[in-house]
Amino acid sequence: MTERVLLRHVGVPGQEDIETYLRHGGYEALRRALRELSPEDVVEMVDRSQLRGRGGAGFPTGRKWKFVPKDAPVKYLVVNGDEGEPGTFKDRTLLEGDPHLLLEGMILTCYAMGIRKAFIYLRREFYQAYRKLERAIAQAYEHGFLGERILGTDFSCDIVLHPGAGAYIAGEETALLESLEGKRAMPRLKPPYFPAVMGLYNQPTVLNNVETMCCIPWIVKHGPEWWLAQGPPQLYSVSGHVNRPGVIEAPLGTTARELIERAGGVRGGRRVKAFYPGGTSSRPLRAEHLDVPLNHESLAKLGSMLGSGAVIIMDETTDMVQVIARVCEFYREESCGKCTPCREGTRWVTQILDRILHGRGRMEDLDLLESIARNMTGTCFCPLGESVPPSLRAGLEDFRDEFVAYIRGARTPVEMPVRIREGILAPGG
Ligand code: SF4
Repeated sequence: MTERVLLRHVGVPGQEDIETYLRHGGYEALRRALRELSPEDVVEMVDRSQLRGRGGAGFPTGRKWKFVPKDAPVKYLVVNGDEGEPGTFKDRTLLEGDPHLLLEGMILTCYAMGIRKAFIYLRREFYQAYRKLERAIAQAYEHGFLGERILGTDFSCDIVLHPGAGAYIAGEETALLESLEGKRAMPRLKPPYFPAVMGLYNQPTVLNNVETMCCIPWIVKHGPEWWLAQGPPQLYSVSGHVNRPGVIEAPLGTTARELIERAGGVRGGRRVKAFYPGGTSSRPLRAEHLDVPLNHESLAKLGSMLGSGAVIIMDETTDMVQVIARVCEFYREESCGKCTPCREGTRWVTQILDRILHGRGRMEDLDLLESIARNMTGTCFCPLGESVPPSLRAGLEDFRDEFVAYIRGARTPVEMPVRIREGILAPGG
């Protein structure tokens, strides 16, 4: 087992208190940066570390930072703490277990990017994290790590904590900015609204997720080479049919089989049937892929992705038709309704899946599902709608026999978990 880095102090009693954080070497990276490194040095260190965003898209962090115009008079940092994808709970672990690590990462980022004001957009349901962050921010001000002339330098920075809008779409980066500006959380068109150039209040904005920010102090403190030598560290939220679900820190590229072992094995000693390697927006994979390294490149080759690192394990008793129906229902309920492919597509697929599960499906429904998946791919306004086709495709290609069994009556119709609104029919329904 590798040494813990990101989770090293999570679970240490009192870690959310600044005195404990300082005893464990907290804010040393910030002191070092302000004493020895120029802002450009910090950007270069992050770039050389090959750190990729941990929020889902996996975009290289250093490159993202370099898109931000250097000479812009006003810039912002916004941290996306609106973790809401099914199966994802790693950011919450960091927020509650080591809030000063996030703050230190944010202050370092502000220093590197010449930013004066930063925001944490926090999922509204994270009450504990909110309380802890509120206290941690106050402590950081008291100790001179935030506010005017930080540690006696010319660098000043403020952090604002903002509760989210209680909607999954608010975690989409441009919808988050809308929400932060006090508007309804709906995505903006990209381009031209790439946050790096035109973000919060139309100013250049660095937008990163909680885990990404928590990597920065480690990279600055020990250097990018050390960081790369660690694997680099990555958090996986492991859930589903394992004996000990939880957040596991392991090097990028660890296999699902290794994660299952660390999570105490599959419940009841059963075999794995399938797993989502990167949350429900990734394509679920079959058991034969348990030894594939969980990294961006290997998963892309299989048409899947690492996403937010949420590994959801499903054992051999799992009904994949029900799983996919449930996932599609989630996206239907969370669709903001702005664009037709997502608004209508999510509704149609859940209704077709409903009739299949109720024993009223027809073989043509499989072609219909495939056609809707095709029409939703690349046509949705934001990634939420694009999260539906991967599950559908996997269902139709890898688990087709289960769909056919329902249609042929070989499977007992089930109470559909999807709540269909009455009176609206799917195409051909
Ligand atoms: S894809 Fe869905 S969530 Fe995204 S803008 Fe379109 S309707 Fe809204």
